[in-house]
Amino acid sequence: MLRPCLPALVCVIALTGCSSSDGPLFPGATAEAAAQSSAAGTGGAGGAGGMGSASGSGNASSGPGGGMGGAGGAGGAGFPPHWDDGTACASEPEVMVWAYDEDTYILRQSLCTNFEGPFLYLLFGADKALLQDTGTGHADVASAVQGVLDQWLVKKGKASIELIVTHSHGHGDHVGGDAQLAALPNTTVVPANLNSVTSFYGITQWPTQVVQYDLGGRILDIIPIPGHHASHIAIYDRRDDLLLTGDTLYPGRLYINDWPAYKASVGRLVSFVGMGNPVVWVLGTHIEMTTTPGDDYPMGANKHPSEHALELGYPILDELNQAIDAMGATPVYEVHSDFIIYPL
Ligand SMILES: [Zn+2]
Repeated sequence: MLRPCLPALVCVIALTGCSSSDGPLFPGATAEAAAQSSAAGTGGAGGAGGMGSASGSGNASSGPGGGMGGAGGAGGAGFPPHWDDGTACASEPEVMVWAYDEDTYILRQSLCTNFEGPFLYLLFGADKALLQDTGTGHADVASAVQGVLDQWLVKKGKASIELIVTHSHGHGDHVGGDAQLAALPNTTVVPANLNSVTSFYGITQWPTQVVQYDLGGRILDIIPIPGHHASHIAIYDRRDDLLLTGDTLYPGRLYINDWPAYKASVGRLVSFVGMGNPVVWVLGTHIEMTTTPGDDYPMGANKHPSEHALELGYPILDELNQAIDAMGATPVYEVHSDFIIYPL
């Protein structure tokens, strides 16, 4: 999220001083529990899309604590029954790592380290790994990422892999760990400003051009989506049919800085999906809603009991697009079951 400090608001930096637990990188679920990655990406969006967030309580296909199994969903992969939610700081690791499948990892910075509790995504191809975002800087993200890399390399029988770090956008809760990551070997951290993003990805016509980035047998589409932030991008993973939407769409307060840009960006996302790019899950970078439809945690809350699922079904994108379309030129605060439109 990261909203500007409005006069009426107090921007809370919640540092609870939770111990730097060296908890397991894969709480309850080690890499071998990952689903067969080959099953992913073939399910198509149609079937899976509808099950997204209606229940708000997750749709994990796995048993308690992990063991993904992976046989269930159309994506052949899974999510945890719930994420670490800041209610057990004595035992929560600073970063919770979840293997969505054997080449796809979701990391959640603990709410005990910062109320933003951002999610990071680590995607492996044959030649490169790409990390989206680095968190707020209040947790040891680099060690968590290195742990995943080490396990992945052992499993694949490889000696090394290049790590590329880019960002959903440039707000502090997504770039705060950049220096940590830059210190890792064989790693390139691309700054989150517009010039760096466009030149790294080779985007010459911002924001209307979609470009491809190949991790080695795994092509990502990079889609410019300014509106929440000027250099915001979405990433579409062709292999797993995942759409990473950052702070533009997630189960929470969608802070909109540039209304015309945001509207156009969401419209382009819808068009992109309509051009033969099915989406199984829309995955953002925060959770601020509870399991009760339309209910969000107070701003700055660092405990999220009964947290909404992270993953959203594709219809959520249509719902957002129709809602903002209906607002015309003037955005208004509007509560939906799974997100809140929040113009600034
Ligand atoms: Zn954010």
